[in-house]
Amino acid sequence: MVSVRTARLTLLTAIGVALAGCTPGPEWDRRTGATYSRMVADEMGLVEDPALERYVASIGQRIASHVPDRRFDFSFRIVDQEVPNAFALPGGYVYVSRGILALTNSEDELANVLAHEMGHVEQRHAARQQAAATLPGFFTLPGTIVSAIVSPALGDVLASPFRQVGAVYLAGYGRSQEREADRFAQETTARAGYDPRGMSDLLDALGREEDLRQGDSPTPGFLDTHPPTPERAATTARRAATLAWSRTAGTEPDRAAYLRRLEGLAVGRDPRHGIFVGVRLLHALLDCSARIPAGWAVASSRGAFGAMSPEGDAILVLQPPARGTDPQQAADAFVRDVLASSKVHIERSHVTQVAGMPGYEITARLGNGDDAFDLEFAWLAHDGRIYRFTGVAPVANPELIGAIRATISSFRPLTELQRSSIRVNRLHLAEARPGESIRALSARTNNLWSTEQTAVMNGIAVDDTFTGGQLVKIAVRD
Ligand SMILES: [Zn+2]
Repeated sequence: MVSVRTARLTLLTAIGVALAGCTPGPEWDRRTGATYSRMVADEMGLVEDPALERYVASIGQRIASHVPDRRFDFSFRIVDQEVPNAFALPGGYVYVSRGILALTNSEDELANVLAHEMGHVEQRHAARQQAAATLPGFFTLPGTIVSAIVSPALGDVLASPFRQVGAVYLAGYGRSQEREADRFAQETTARAGYDPRGMSDLLDALGREEDLRQGDSPTPGFLDTHPPTPERAATTARRAATLAWSRTAGTEPDRAAYLRRLEGLAVGRDPRHGIFVGVRLLHALLDCSARIPAGWAVASSRGAFGAMSPEGDAILVLQPPARGTDPQQAADAFVRDVLASSKVHIERSHVTQVAGMPGYEITARLGNGDDAFDLEFAWLAHDGRIYRFTGVAPVANPELIGAIRATISSFRPLTELQRSSIRVNRLHLAEARPGESIRALSARTNNLWSTEQTAVMNGIAVDDTFTGGQLVKIAVRD
């Protein structure tokens, strides 16, 4: 409900430009939103579930029709993000993550989340947002160094997988903007025939989820909300009690019916973006595996994959394969289009082979003396596709470029067995038996969530026992 992360990174630039002059008009919101909505789709990825998407949009549009003097048209999408999150781009682009959908227990909760984001849009908080707090870690990556000196195209390649994970910790909305959006959400949902308590119920769930995840994941999600979640939950619970509302036809009052909409939703980390088996990373989307040096961080966006040294001074990136069979031809094109016009000095280039796959390798250097960087480019052909590796490491630490070369040499296509071992966890519904505990239900249904997490996801206490017949959200292996 606050962190745009990816999108806000560059949005900041646009905002900065806008603020340099006078306050931009609503047309600025529409233009900016349209631009960054493409970036969200490309880099965060959208959940392609037409039925669920239509359902979310139907709730959003119902709310939109109750916004007085509405300035913007709204669209609603589900982003492929495991952490509970929701955000909006200026101009009416509203996003909920699959993580927040999995956490909701009623249509009222979902309606309030959507309405909160619509509040940020209608009140034009992005356009008014003045300050950006900290610099994103992204700017310190070697990719950016390369981008500045060599070529923006190459810098972009190196930075792409880290944009999401490399943390864009820009300022969220201010306290008063969050409060304003909460108020807008509850007043608007009440008018639209939803229970405004959905806001406080969801904030409670988010608070519990946050506590559970504490220290486990660096992803901010709602962690950067201010005012603190419990305070917002209390404030919105008090406000809900003062708002008159009555349920309108078409809204869904039944918890079980609501939960059935979520059945099959992917939960947790998407293992297709890479899972480790020992030191080998299996990457289903890129259909390959490689050994990752000990201690290196890995990151993956839509397809592109990156590994970064513990000190953050060396990076190896594997891009989604392009069609082709001739690695040398691909390398020639790259030299012509990118390297030829750069300050990179090519030291060696030659034909190579990795595990029987034909390849081509270019070793290059950028800069002089101790501040120089070694660059390693490699192309490998497999099955009508060409994989391209780009590595960069400081000359001062030759072990790093060595580690990059070793990783490239360890590249292999996925085997059938590896491919079939990569499975997504999905949300399913189990019917509780009378007197059953969460622990007993989990054992019976092969629930992958811990007792604590199951309690949080279902909005119940850890030691609750079921009366029977209640639908319980669980996570199971696909
Ligand atoms: Zn917010």
